[in-house]
Amino acid sequence: MSSDIDILPLQDWLPTDGKPLIIAGPCSAENKEQLLQTAQQIAKIPDVSVFRAGIWKPRTRPGEFEGVGEPGLKWLNTVKKETGLLTTVEVAKPLHVELALKHNVDILWLGARTVVNPFNVQEIADAIQGSDVAVMVKNPLTPDVKLWLGAIERIHAAGIRKIIAIHRGFHYFEKSPFRNAPMWEIPIELKRIIPAIPIISDPSHICGKRDLLQPVSQKALDLEMDGLMIESHFDPKQALTDAAQQITPAHLGQLLDQLVFRHKKGDINFQNKLEGLRTEIDKLDGELIQILAKRLEIIDEIGEYKKENDITILQMKRWAGIIRDRLSIGTHLGLEERFLKTLLNVIHKESMQRQADIFSGGEKKSEEK
Ligand code: PEP
Ligand code: MN
Repeated sequence: MSSDIDILPLQDWLPTDGKPLIIAGPCSAENKEQLLQTAQQIAKIPDVSVFRAGIWKPRTRPGEFEGVGEPGLKWLNTVKKETGLLTTVEVAKPLHVELALKHNVDILWLGARTVVNPFNVQEIADAIQGSDVAVMVKNPLTPDVKLWLGAIERIHAAGIRKIIAIHRGFHYFEKSPFRNAPMWEIPIELKRIIPAIPIISDPSHICGKRDLLQPVSQKALDLEMDGLMIESHFDPKQALTDAAQQITPAHLGQLLDQLVFRHKKGDINFQNKLEGLRTEIDKLDGELIQILAKRLEIIDEIGEYKKENDITILQMKRWAGIIRDRLSIGTHLGLEERFLKTLLNVIHKESMQRQADIFSGGEKKSEEK
């Protein structure tokens, strides 16, 4: 699969000077004061060239703050005049497109919930047709590169050449430190399919919390993403949406200062393969830890049972049997005996310790560790 659709390079239409494109601003426009104060502080950071704000918010449940609507577009226009920053908003319906164009928004973006639905994407593309606006397309919620590609193709077919893809992570069922698992191999695959597409990462929606933003932003740059979109609010704790992931403009300035802009890393197929393998390792490590936790839970249960029945902790015959059995399984799977013995000993030691804690009545202590 490949696509040679023509897309304008970023530097042809954005003032990035060949540097990564940095977009920042609050998750949502909440009121004029919040928007202007945040924008004025962000405008002091030279790396930022585009100001974002959600005007219509896709909320999971009704009754939550759903955005300020059209008045927010007027405030954004004031931001543009007062700071010189370009502006961008999310559009999810043809009416949003019409209003955003009427109020001179520079860049529209399609959100992850919109991109999952080709009907919606097509309606938006039809509404955009004939305008010269720039459009950013977020990845769909599901890890499906074709759905993402299809949305970009629909926007392109509407005559738009200023297109950017935004990588914001993917819905993931298993436990993960991220709000949306990055699955870096997917944006890399998109770039392989459409080499001309600029891709920026949205660490805010990947992480879901502030403390992961720095390493994820660095990783995005290390993987040759063309920029970052980061949510920033002048008072994050009071934010009406995504409070846990927004940062102050001052924090944003520090984060950007600490990023290392590395040299090119090499061939895209190589990176894609490597990221696929790393994702696999992350998943397996997670499972390994879950299995160990489950094993220790059962060990605790055995400990309680032994204590109640006055049986000693260590039963040499059982342990010798375990070693023999596990070594046999492991060596058949190609693992070294030396490695298996070390591993089993570490697990055994921890198991004994937990049972000893239970015998001395300190089972709570081991839980608290
Ligand atoms: C957003 O950028 O505020 C947003 C709603 O993002 P996403 O579509 O990635 O969830
Ligand atoms: Mn948000």
